Amino acid sequence: MTFVMGGLDVRDKLIVLVGGGDVTARSAERFLTEGAVLRIIAPRLTGAAAELLHVTDRERMSWVPRPFRDTDVDDAWLVHTATGVSDVDTAVDTACRSRRIWCIDAADALRGTARLSAEARHDDLVVGTLSTGSPDPRRSASVRSAVQKLFERGLLPDRKIRNRQECSDEQHTGSVTLIGGGPGPGDLMTLRGYRALTQADVIVHDRLGPTDVLGDLGRHVEVIDVGKSPGNHPVSQQRINDILVGRARRGLRVARLKGGDPFVLGRGGEEAQACNAAGVPVEVIPGVSSVVAAPQVAGIPVTHRGTADSVHVVNGHRHPRPSTLAALHDDGTTVVVLMGTSTLPDFVAASLDAGVPSKRPVTIVENAHRPGQRCLNTTLGYVTELATSQSVKNPAVIVVGEAARPGLLTGQDDTDDTIVQGYLGPLAKGVSA
Ligand code: SAH
Repeated sequence: MTFVMGGLDVRDKLIVLVGGGDVTARSAERFLTEGAVLRIIAPRLTGAAAELLHVTDRERMSWVPRPFRDTDVDDAWLVHTATGVSDVDTAVDTACRSRRIWCIDAADALRGTARLSAEARHDDLVVGTLSTGSPDPRRSASVRSAVQKLFERGLLPDRKIRNRQECSDEQHTGSVTLIGGGPGPGDLMTLRGYRALTQADVIVHDRLGPTDVLGDLGRHVEVIDVGKSPGNHPVSQQRINDILVGRARRGLRVARLKGGDPFVLGRGGEEAQACNAAGVPVEVIPGVSSVVAAPQVAGIPVTHRGTADSVHVVNGHRHPRPSTLAALHDDGTTVVVLMGTSTLPDFVAASLDAGVPSKRPVTIVENAHRPGQRCLNTTLGYVTELATSQSVKNPAVIVVGEAARPGLLTGQDDTDDTIVQGYLGPLAKGVSA
């Protein structure tokens, strides 16, 4: 269905346009797009109107080359007047009123009985902008473009609600979108990710993603918390895969909201495999990974010209492999350890045993971009002691390497003996403890 102006369906309906100027031409173009049949009443046409008439099928648009008569509107569903002559426009309006036909007066909206709205469109939705005051087309157009942008960025709650939740037809395949939610706050997720959330029927989320955005979504959305915390795995990965595939097979759009990036130590690969194996369409939207977002909080660039030109990301849960020990040895590599707080003593002992210098700078960033954010600077030799005395907890990222040396960016290297012995902030300027 095509609709204009507050929901009128003008497809194949006659619209009479009185006047042959550029305003008529612009409105005519719009009515043609909506599928209307147009008749222009005007002694003369301007270039734009004549050109439009020339390129349009005769059944869609005709021209009666003479002045307006009352009876011209007899068979119209809608009339548009833009003659440039106030008396004529008034006569058109009067003729329409006596026949109960809606009339748009392009020169004086207060005189007519209908107005053209500036429309933003998305999917099958149309949002019209109208003013009840005197016409200001540029103002309406600027509101229209703002609404259009909100649509495109997914900032409007335009998710389909009817007929989707009830859909249990096995034939109708839904989809799964793995969304990288970033390190915590909603404004660190991507617009594409947020948009996918607003479209979802079901949201399956973790503990570390941006859960604050869930409150914005409609109450028809099913929200499933499968959050794991260390030592507490309430929902197994197999069960999560089953939830994703099962809901999608019921025709639902499933958003799998994950912390950071789905494909960085997030088991997103396994979820994608499960969807592929089940024939469920799966899409992945990247996210800001804590691999970079957490060091950044402490003022650590994971690469820095002249200091570090490679990054080694490792799951700290496992005993360090030779490649990790080599990276720790290398002055030019920044090692970023995720999921490493509980196993930190073993990780450090293995590193020191392998001959990694005990003075290698280490920074722990706990709760990056989240309440309770804290950065601790120290060295490999003292990090275990510091982490214990400061009760470091997950989620935390451990950064090892020259890029973690305090003052790298500020030039104020406040390294002194206390740091070497294990020192607690104020390390990166502006970081709240
Ligand atoms: N896919 C995620 C990582 C998941 S593994 C990403 O790309 O960020 C979980 C680990 O990520 C945590 O144990 C912790 O090491 C790290 N992490 C996630 N969010 C964090 C945050 N806000 N602050 C510090 N570390 C975080």
